[in-house]
Amino acid sequence: MSAHAEHNDLLGSLKCAAKTHPEHRTVIDLGGQHIGGDARTVIAGPCSVESEAQIHAIAEQVAAAGATILRGGVYKPRTSPYAFQGLGAEGLGFLVQAAKEQGMLSITEVTCVSDVDRVASSVDILQVGSRNMHNYRLLQAVGKVKKPVFLKRGMAATYREFLLAAEYILSCGNPDVMLCERGIRTFEPYTRNTLDLAAVPVLQGLTHLPVFIDPSHGTGRRALVPSMAAAAMAAGADGLMIEVHTDPDDSISDSQQTVSTEAFAALMHDLSCWLPLDNMAGKASA
Ligand code: PEP
Ligand code: MN
Repeated sequence: MSAHAEHNDLLGSLKCAAKTHPEHRTVIDLGGQHIGGDARTVIAGPCSVESEAQIHAIAEQVAAAGATILRGGVYKPRTSPYAFQGLGAEGLGFLVQAAKEQGMLSITEVTCVSDVDRVASSVDILQVGSRNMHNYRLLQAVGKVKKPVFLKRGMAATYREFLLAAEYILSCGNPDVMLCERGIRTFEPYTRNTLDLAAVPVLQGLTHLPVFIDPSHGTGRRALVPSMAAAAMAAGADGLMIEVHTDPDDSISDSQQTVSTEAFAALMHDLSCWLPLDNMAGKASA
């Protein structure tokens, strides 16, 4: 099949997610904060919520640097069943409170259908992680809630599979879906995953949904996060998700890819030419 025919064939299978004209872009309005369209959004915070003090300290720093959405996992999908699994409902409360205090929105991952209502009634945005991108019952469940969904690309998923996963959510009635490229599995072990930055123009050409980049999981190495964040912005990404900690080496999960709050502030300063002035005024340079 020619590249053009393949593009049209994929578009034809996307009843809700397909871009129907060049200016067709979803803008999600979260109480006045826009995601998609002309906005550029930075989501930041630790891999996991570890304690009330930890999430409050990080929230304060990432908000000061210009991030507007606070992340932090409380139901962690870990490779080992013996690794820290997250603080659960208690951590959810800590995350939401820390975000509120800084005037930020909050996002956390939901890993199973039975947790959807509880998570949806707490945070502003529900994350479906890479490992669950193919969990169609979960996709349908988050498709029925009235909160936006941040869908991460499966680590071995094609663009078609990724977009059809978004289609599951949209077709259940939830129009507010964001896509996030977070690296795919390749033969290269030096980086944890291979960050596929071509996903930005490819997906934006096929769908009206906002496209984010996660350079933290995408590389697995904190030294690579600033350059990949800048590259994502240059490629036209609608936003970034970055793991940040006040003491990255002490992070309970994903410490190697987590940047310090100072490194995050410097990175935000370097990105300021791409970020909206109302986010950044007096913050990144402070
Ligand atoms: C995360 O963002 O906390 C996470 C687990 O990421 P991913 O699903 O991309 O591995
Ligand atoms: Mn992580």
